[in-house]
Amino acid sequence: MTDEKATVLLIEDEPQMRRFLKITLQGHGYRLIEAQSGQEGLNEAATRNPDIVLLDLGLPDIDGIEVTKRLREWSHVPVIVISAREQENDKIRALDAGADDYLTKPFGAGELMARIRVALRHLSRQQTGGDEPVFVLANLKVDFSKRQVFIDEKEVHVTPIEYKLLATLIRHAGKVITHSQLMKEVWGPGYADQTHYLRIYMAQIRHKLEADPARPRFFINEPGIGYRLRMEPGQDR
Ligand code: CA
Repeated sequence: MTDEKATVLLIEDEPQMRRFLKITLQGHGYRLIEAQSGQEGLNEAATRNPDIVLLDLGLPDIDGIEVTKRLREWSHVPVIVISAREQENDKIRALDAGADDYLTKPFGAGELMARIRVALRHLSRQQTGGDEPVFVLANLKVDFSKRQVFIDEKEVHVTPIEYKLLATLIRHAGKVITHSQLMKEVWGPGYADQTHYLRIYMAQIRHKLEADPARPRFFINEPGIGYRLRMEPGQDR
């Protein structure tokens, strides 16, 4: 796999966490650049051109949200935020600031590797000229050129809003997308707070596209944060 040689910039001040991540990442063949503060991380991002950034939110100098904002002024590098449970609200702010995904401590090596794979897949898709006209995930198929949605090759009727919501989730496939991001992209900037719409439409999408809407394979709720279209629906996280 090509992503085995990817370079990961790790911005994390806790020695124990750094050690765990270093062993895990290097064990999977990733090259590693380490930074212990936000400023050092920004410097390394600017000079070493990493393929992906793992970013702790609680840093001694600049916090991770600010690091994300500054990074996004000039870089599209995928950013996975690492946060402690008590930083729940910061997590949403980091995602809205342009982070791609998050992991809550403690997390396992398998989960970390899965998130990195998804982020790198997105990157390579961007670099090879964008999205395919047909999206396929297990028994779900969406043909963007014809605006048609299929389950097991049978067409499923979706409303224009449901289609837009589905297309937005697919555009961010594998990554978490916050409630307010989804609202803005599907309904427009004036609707960022109307998240009850989302619940209703997500329920409709699940009802139409999930075999068991109560135990979704594809459309995963991230409580308090947003939704994720799971790209490895065979595996539970
Ligand atoms: Ca920290």
